[in-house]
This record gives sequence, structure tokens and C-alpha cells, in this order.
Amino acid sequence: MDRETTIGHTDIKVNPIGVGTNAVGGHNIYPNLDEEQGKNVVRTALDRGMNFLDTAYVYGLGRSEELIGEVVKERGNRQEAVIATKAAHESKEGKMIFNNSPAFLKEAVEQAQKRLQTDYIDLFYIHFPDENTPKAEAVGALKECKDDGKIRSIGVSNFSVEQLKEADQDGYVDVIQSEYNLLKRGAENDLLPYVKERGISFVPYFPLASGLLAGKYDKNTTFADNDIRSNSPMFQGSTFYENLEKVEKVRRLARKKGAETAHVILAWYLTRDAIDTIIPGAKRAEQVTDNGHTLDVMLTEEEIKEIDQIFS
Ligand code: NAP
Repeated sequence: MDRETTIGHTDIKVNPIGVGTNAVGGHNIYPNLDEEQGKNVVRTALDRGMNFLDTAYVYGLGRSEELIGEVVKERGNRQEAVIATKAAHESKEGKMIFNNSPAFLKEAVEQAQKRLQTDYIDLFYIHFPDENTPKAEAVGALKECKDDGKIRSIGVSNFSVEQLKEADQDGYVDVIQSEYNLLKRGAENDLLPYVKERGISFVPYFPLASGLLAGKYDKNTTFADNDIRSNSPMFQGSTFYENLEKVEKVRRLARKKGAETAHVILAWYLTRDAIDTIIPGAKRAEQVTDNGHTLDVMLTEEEIKEIDQIFS
């Protein structure tokens, strides 16, 4: 598989295997995170040319961005990293709300630049839609940031296809990031066909279904109460067992190829039309290195269909 791809209709070149960094400084998402371990995730990714780093304000309320900024600064080569970040969360009267107002988004871009210690951000997403702001107006604010050179491309995340259509009225949206994996394929019904037609790149999040598709859990696996997986329906009761059986089928297919289950799963996403790059999350540097081996996997047409059917 090629080691470089272009994101949609932008001129941004990335390694197809990016890195999701919600476990880099994302203390509000995962318990007991070690920040140095998180920085090593970023260092290892950049050492290996896995340059596409996916972060967000809400991962540690700025901490993930700060840690990435420190690593990029210490290496002294801003251009080796392609940084995507997101904003929309605003703390108001002790609650988190979504804000897409132009003033909020423009300020969010500037604050993210400071935390990342950079004068430009490669891809800036509206993390979640809010209820009030006309979507094209929100995207218009990011277009102004792009025209000012503060960001290089515009993304939206967690938008339905109707919301995306509204947001992309002027054709400014380059990327959409949504939940999509072999256990959650809803995007195939509407979002994927739409973005393919529009040349918008689709970045799937939770590609490993929070580790479930990496093939390392069994019926006895349990998670801490404050781990996001203890509340996820995919990890409960008979659904969990059925999912484990499907993963087992992929494990057998992978074994025949001399490959790992996680790499076969990740390679499958890259066979989808609108998906240029994926962002498996990593807590440890070894997981980054490991996920990089996805590029060694070449799936045949029959294997692509077989995997499709296992999870149909
Ligand atoms: P994920 O990629 O589906 O799963 C990541 C988890 O899988 C890791 O934390 C690790 O879990 C396990 N893992 C990763 N590589 C592995 C390997 N090689 N072998 C075995 N296990 C491995 O889920 P995610 O990290 O939550 O999501 C990916 C990224 O998407 C995030 O980091 C974030 O950047 C982005 N995201 C965006 C949104 C949004 O609203 N836009 C929402 C969620 C996530 P353990 O080590 O704990 O087992």
C-alpha cells in the first residue's frame, strides 16, 4: 500500500495510517494516563513518518494539544507533522455545551494555535454541530481562518448527511469525521455515498471499535467503571460475545495471510472509496508501531468481500 496519500481535494499529504490521540493527555477520557507515554506515542508516530495526528480541545481540555505542541516543538520541524484538531465544546455554568458561533470558532482556532505552539493548523474541525448556528455560517468562519492562513483545511465531525449538506453549501468542507467501523456501518447508507460524490474525505473514528476489533479481548475481559468501554453497548452481554465471534473469523483469515487481525481490519477501511486515512487511537508507542504494519497488508477482492460479509 502507498505510504503517502492526499486528503480529499486538499493538497495535504499524509501517511494513510494516522494516530488518534485522545489517550495523549485525555485525562477526562481514560483514567491513569501517563503524559510521557502519551508524548512517546507522538514521537514514535513522527519517527515512523505516521504524520497525521488527530487531536481535539476536549481531549484533556487542551492538554492533548499542548503535549503534541511540545513534541513538535522539541523536534524543530513543524512540517513533519500534519495536525488536525477540533473545537465546539464550551464550559458554561458547570456544563459542557456545543458552540459553533463564528466568534467562538475563530477564538478556538487561535487558542488551539497557542496550545499547539504553531502558527497554522493543518485541519480544523467543528467537533459537534450546535443547535443554533446556521451550519454554512459556522463553516464560513473557518473559511475566513483559512483565508488568513491560520488553518489549511476545514472539517466537520458528528454531522448527519443533512447537516453536512447544509454546512457544505459553498463547497468549503474538505473532511468529515464520523464514527464508522465494521461493527457500526450506518455511514454506508448515506454519508459515504454523499462524500464520495462531493470529493470530501471521510475519516472514520473508533476504527478499532475502542480495541474490540484489534482481536485481543475475550469473554473474560472486563473494564474499569470509569473506562468508556464499560458503558458501550458493543461490549455488553450477548452482543459482546457475537462481536468476539466475528473478530475470531477475521483472525482466521489474517492467520492464513500471516497478518494480524487489527492490521487486516484497518487495511479493509482503506479499501473504501472516500477513506484516505484512518486514525486508530494509541495509548502506547508500541501500538503506533504495530498499527503502522497495516500498510504491509494487501487484501484481495475475495478477502475484502469476505470481511464485508462477516460483518454484514
Ligand atoms: P479506536 O481507534 O477504535 O481504538 C483505540 C484503542 O484500541 C486503543 O486505545 C487501544 O486500547 C486499542 N489499540 C490500538 N492499537 C492497537 C493495537 N495495535 N493492538 C491492540 N490494541 C490496540 O478508538 P479511539 O482511540 O477512541 O478512536 C480513534 C481516534 O478517533 C481517537 O483517538 C480520536 O482522535 C478520534 N475520535 C474522534 C471522535 C469525534 O467525535 N470526532 C470521537 C472518538 C474518537 P487499549 O490499549 O486500551 O486496549
